[in-house]
Amino acid sequence: MSEKHAERACWCGHPTLEAYSDDYRVCKACGTLVSRAPLVEGLYGKGYWTERQTAHHGLPDITERARLDLPERCTHWLRRLLEVRLPPARVLEVGCAHGGYVALLGWAGFDAIGTEMSLWAARFAHETFGVTVLGGAVEKQDLKEGSFDVIVMNDVIEHLPDPLMTLRHCARLLSRDGFFVIQTPEYIEHLTLAELRATNDLFLKHMDRNNEEHLHLFSRRSAGLLFSRIGFPLLDFSNPVYAYDMSFVASRAPLRANDEASVAAALCAKPVGRLVQALLDKAYESNDRWWAIQRLEARLNPPQSPRS
Ligand SMILES: [Zn+2]
Repeated sequence: MSEKHAERACWCGHPTLEAYSDDYRVCKACGTLVSRAPLVEGLYGKGYWTERQTAHHGLPDITERARLDLPERCTHWLRRLLEVRLPPARVLEVGCAHGGYVALLGWAGFDAIGTEMSLWAARFAHETFGVTVLGGAVEKQDLKEGSFDVIVMNDVIEHLPDPLMTLRHCARLLSRDGFFVIQTPEYIEHLTLAELRATNDLFLKHMDRNNEEHLHLFSRRSAGLLFSRIGFPLLDFSNPVYAYDMSFVASRAPLRANDEASVAAALCAKPVGRLVQALLDKAYESNDRWWAIQRLEARLNPPQSPRS
């Protein structure tokens, strides 16, 4: 085994993985891409947010993101959550980064807190948005069983060394009718690496230069198996913010859908909720905003005939 390659097993326990790319192997049993990178200790400290995001990934740093994300992805996430759960409810966002979404949840009437691996980032979130964010892994926190109605994990499960263990722990924190809301990159099993490269598919961004972070890249099938194993077998997929991701709610039982009128009534019950309603109205007044939800249909629709 070289230093570059750790050859970890699949989260599902299947012993045999097949070749996929230099950096990933594929588990055909469940449909997960498994990173070959060794675990990097302390990857998610201050440097991850202030330097790695810009220098390694070419993304805005955490200070810029704290402003940019609110009218964009946070608004989209809130809109989706409100479709299935109205405030008041207790929400935990695992891996909440700058804490902007935790703040938005609070303004919308939810009782929300976050966790973040780095103590530095947890403090940043508190100082920036005035929210409660617990520093360290979610498994290390002193949180009561059954004390949350919703657990949100946006861009988190692909980073987990042992997703089954972490999600099992989180499942215990949920109330009887509690559920998960997940965003994670979507590995589409019927597309080969050559096909992804031929179309410069955006999903490649999650693999190239990312395998130290993205330890498991799930398909819809493997995400379904993962959440079934922890007792949340119903996955309800919805449009993600970005075409290379998938977005779903995982629950034990079907969830009730809230109509626009009941969402508006819940938000407008408090003055600050009216500001949140205005943000949602503004965000969705047009479908051609630069961040508008896009789906690359070619990625999602399996080919009609067998490939040669
Ligand atoms: Zn597997």
